[in-house]
Amino acid sequence: MNVNDSEVVASILAKDGYTAVKSAEEADLVLLNTCSIREKAEYTVLQRINEMNNLKARNKGLKVGVLGCMAERMREELLEKKKVVDLVVGPDAYRTLPELLEKVGTGQKAVNVLLSREETYGEIVPVRLDTNGVTAFVTIMRGCDNMCAFCVVPFTRGRERSRDPHSIVDECRDLVAKGYKEVTLLGQNVDSYKYTSSPVPFSQGEGGNAASPQPLSGGEGLPSSDAFPLRVDFADLLEMVALACPTLRIRYSTSHPKDMTDKVLVVMARYPNICKYIHLPVQSGSSAVLKRMNRGYDRAWYMERMASIRRHMPDCAISTDIIAGFCGETEEDHQETLSLMNEVGYDMAFMFKYSERPKTLAARKYPDDVPEEEKGRRLAEIIEAQKMSSAKRMAGYVGQMHEVLIEGVSKRSAEHLFGRNSQNSIVIVPRYVDGFELKPGMFVHARISSSTAGSLQGEVTGIVEEALAKA
Ligand code: SAH
Ligand code: SF4
Repeated sequence: MNVNDSEVVASILAKDGYTAVKSAEEADLVLLNTCSIREKAEYTVLQRINEMNNLKARNKGLKVGVLGCMAERMREELLEKKKVVDLVVGPDAYRTLPELLEKVGTGQKAVNVLLSREETYGEIVPVRLDTNGVTAFVTIMRGCDNMCAFCVVPFTRGRERSRDPHSIVDECRDLVAKGYKEVTLLGQNVDSYKYTSSPVPFSQGEGGNAASPQPLSGGEGLPSSDAFPLRVDFADLLEMVALACPTLRIRYSTSHPKDMTDKVLVVMARYPNICKYIHLPVQSGSSAVLKRMNRGYDRAWYMERMASIRRHMPDCAISTDIIAGFCGETEEDHQETLSLMNEVGYDMAFMFKYSERPKTLAARKYPDDVPEEEKGRRLAEIIEAQKMSSAKRMAGYVGQMHEVLIEGVSKRSAEHLFGRNSQNSIVIVPRYVDGFELKPGMFVHARISSSTAGSLQGEVTGIVEEALAKA
């Protein structure tokens, strides 16, 4: 999400005459887009801010700004204690960057950390930074209303709001026109996406003007443009994008177990261009811990959602997020997390030690009482369990035919390329097939020949650039 936010910022600044350069050494302005999710993330940014002193010593005119969640959370501290920082801008205030930069230009410090209930940067077309030209992010909603006890996001990114579906579909169409092959729709909790448009006369949608609503035709249950007001939930949005861009692969992140509906699963199963992969963070396998985390579901509910995914899409891959050592977590709770991991058999997981965040419900209500060393041990066990689970899932793909979208050259060997299958696992394939060079952006059929815990090796049996379109 931060990568995509930086792309929105680049777009706003491009209109103001700025262009992105390759390194901080060449720049007149350095903006650090920051994350507050764990203390470690903030520590990394504080180090980076200190490094800016050296750059400023060499380039007196250099201006330095801090964007994103840390700007929101630590504005005073940053402005008072970090002399090198000229500018502090929260995640909802990027449109004001040109004015703020003018102020900075006159030697003053500038700050805007106002959060908004409306800002979605809906019509801003991001400038794709560091792009591989194949995959791109599209943010569909901002903020979060969930208040999980451990999480700082609702405080730094504000209230949940959903972006106009027409601007999302337009942005995806634009990506297709520019040659992109895959999009990831982003939100903190995509399952609670909801948009109700104000009534718009039908005739306004007919001119093909990107800024006005386009009539959307489509499948069962899809909202049509003559039925305003248009109410669109996440399942509808997925279907709209799948129909509008049949050659584009579609992924999304993040689902929330309490809000994931069967309607979304039905849509995913119906469209071959929606990838069969769900990131469904569980956080803990213990219902008691989940309750303290204020996650809104218990273990049984999560396992029922899991069963429903498998009913609708037996070939769907599932990944998760897990926190080790949340407040009050006992050894039994930890064992329940390990047993849930074993029951589900995740393809992949992001695993963290609990890190107390100021202002959160947990920081106010519960002591951070699992000793650091104990958190470390539990995390190590969780990581070990996941390694085994990943290895098992990956081994299960050996012998199967998968459709792989090539993304780039393998880090390990220039003679190999890497891509991903629908399940989001990395697949390594030879760069040349019978003397023909494969290129990023091509879809190929690959027979999976071997696996590790982190990737698959494939033999290419054919190029299927048009396969999705035909499906
Ligand atoms: N909105 C997403 C997750 C956003 S943060 C969701 O609800 O799933 C990504 C992950 O960071 C979370 O799923 C959680 O596992 C982890 N995380 C968030 N706050 C944390 C904290 N205080 N300590 C450790 N991990 C945390
Ligand atoms: Fe944080 Fe929970 Fe919102 Fe995810 S759903 S961003 S973990 S509050």
